Amino acid sequence: MSIVTHSPDETRAWAAAWRDRLRPGDVVALRGDLGAGKTCFVQGLAAALGVTEPVSSPTYTLVHEYQGENMTLYHIDLYRLHSAEEALDLGLDEYLDGQGITLIEWADRAEAVLPARTIHVTLQHGATENERTLSWTGGEPS
Ligand code: ADP
Ligand code: MG
Repeated sequence: MSIVTHSPDETRAWAAAWRDRLRPGDVVALRGDLGAGKTCFVQGLAAALGVTEPVSSPTYTLVHEYQGENMTLYHIDLYRLHSAEEALDLGLDEYLDGQGITLIEWADRAEAVLPARTIHVTLQHGATENERTLSWTGGEPS
């Protein structure tokens, strides 16, 4: 499945639509170039889960933890990592095995450790400045 969005808010709205499809322990792998909208996606989903604090990319801290209304959200960014091994050294599997929802930017850096149940979302720049294509595995979010 894929859709095209034309603004950051539209991308956030699409991310929010995933809320009812995610359960505690789910993992969402986000792929896409710098500026493709991965963090924007996390912002939309976090807001839908009741997170009220601002969501920004944890590029220098590996993980940001947010408390939603009913669930904890782990926001991970693997941009600076070079291997799955390095990610494991930093404790990635603790989040993957946890009861929160884990969203991982630059998930391709740790492909080998992603659980089989991982939902894969790819964001790509479109033909115009504010256009992005979002594609994902599985059906349409409710
Ligand atoms: P990433 O985390 O993938 O590096 P960000 O979400 O931090 O990307 O940044 C996306 C940038 O692209 C933001 O500056 C945002 O305003 C801009 N943008 C423009 N159009 C869109 C769109 N349709 N969806 C998401 N972001 C968009
Ligand atoms: Mg980001």
